[in-house]
Amino acid sequence: MAVLDPMGLQTGLFFESAMEIYARVFRELKPRTSAPEMQIEFCKFANADSFIRLDNGRLHVRMSDLLEGAPAPVLEALAYILLGKLYRKEVPRLYSHRYKQYLNRRDVRRQAHLIRQLRGRKFISGPRGEYHDLEELFERLNGQYFGGMLGRPQLGWSRQPSRSMLGHFDPSHNAIIISRIFDRPAVPALALEYVMFHEMLHLRYPVDHAGARRRVHTKEFREAEKQFPRLKEAKEILKRL
Ligand SMILES: [Zn+2]
Repeated sequence: MAVLDPMGLQTGLFFESAMEIYARVFRELKPRTSAPEMQIEFCKFANADSFIRLDNGRLHVRMSDLLEGAPAPVLEALAYILLGKLYRKEVPRLYSHRYKQYLNRRDVRRQAHLIRQLRGRKFISGPRGEYHDLEELFERLNGQYFGGMLGRPQLGWSRQPSRSMLGHFDPSHNAIIISRIFDRPAVPALALEYVMFHEMLHLRYPVDHAGARRRVHTKEFREAEKQFPRLKEAKEILKRL
């Protein structure tokens, strides 16, 4: 069955697991060799690096967990790149191009940036800012909108007052990071409240991995977000930050 993926590639690969992809690419690159035993893992690296090695006839592939939700054609491209490197086979440029294109996607770059911030330096500031306390805010919203039922994740302020990343929920660290731009008296508290509320909804409604693409803001998520009373006003403030 052909499916049109978000990168506009016509492909029938969506039903292959990472393992099946590597086995198929191996057969293509080394048609006369039987495929070795393989171990394929997604690891919590601080960046998008991936590694391959052959150890006692066993193939070990370790990919960044940044790629865990990547479309199959992207994993296929990386399989060509890694196996090509290992066996010194020329790999069609199409694959390196496709892989680079994916890493360049805005959402992927953002996620990579945040992962670097969190894992590279293992830094999460405390919840207390200069003007706002994220813990206090979290618990207030928790009571107001979630019946106090959300477990509190790690809460921290971003290092830089980022405008492009206003807030983020990182499930692998169970952390909500809020841009330091909100820890200023000039920025209305309503904006901070909305961003925190939005990230709390990510805690409540996990990413939907069903189907070909990840759905971060599901229909339920969008519906629940409408509970926020001054939603429009808050979004207006964010636009003018
Ligand atoms: Zn979101």
